[in-house]
Amino acid sequence: MTPHTTQRMPAIFIGHGSPMNAIEENEYVTAWRDVAASIPRPKAILCISAHWETDGTFVTAMAQPQTIHDFFGFPDELFQVHYPAPGSPELAKQVRGIVKATTVELDSRWGLDHGSWSVLRRMYPEADIPIVQLSLNRTEQPRFHYELGRELAVLRSEEVLILGSGNIVHNLRMLQWHTREPYPWASGFDKAAAELITSGNHDQLVDYPAIGETAHLSIPTNEHYLPLLFILGLQQPGEPVSFFAEGLSLGSLSMRSVKIG
Ligand code: ZN
Repeated sequence: MTPHTTQRMPAIFIGHGSPMNAIEENEYVTAWRDVAASIPRPKAILCISAHWETDGTFVTAMAQPQTIHDFFGFPDELFQVHYPAPGSPELAKQVRGIVKATTVELDSRWGLDHGSWSVLRRMYPEADIPIVQLSLNRTEQPRFHYELGRELAVLRSEEVLILGSGNIVHNLRMLQWHTREPYPWASGFDKAAAELITSGNHDQLVDYPAIGETAHLSIPTNEHYLPLLFILGLQQPGEPVSFFAEGLSLGSLSMRSVKIG
């Protein structure tokens, strides 16, 4: 435990859903705005997004990250969105210095993908808080991402907001465009995950395949799930956890969002 318990920044996981949430109004984006307004203003943001997977672990280290439009088939309006927040080469170097379990490489090519900016422009529309992104390491197991969160928890005592952006249930092949009714396996896994998060059973969440068929269908690939494990790794003993958004979008996307602290 750090001696600055009362000054620890909350940590947040957001279920980001469709890129359209960057420009549409709905109950989810209202919840994202409200959570940002409810916590201290961060000095900088470290974001781990489902949409940046690398061989190895990278952190963006440029002074001015570009806005990446990493999707297709959406309206022009979405491609016009730019989120001109500055980067933080200092924070990138600090992240590299803190992590001992692996080598963190400084990246100068990525920027902000839509997993980051679609959420951040609703939370901090002024785009005036420096942001760095941390990549998912596709060569590593879920446990690695959980432990990486544990190593970086110290940043919470330095006014850094650590943000995960993904979806607990994310099965694009099964989207329900017409009925929009949640699949029973999707709501079943979302509920089971919520109970495990509330009870602090992180081992079961890390070992999600053991949960069975609902997990298999909800997490066909795990890039949207891993940011949740990273954020759970930041939870300190006895620290509260709560949900500030929930619901299933298009049948197979969980919008459940988690606040630690
Ligand atoms: Zn996504």
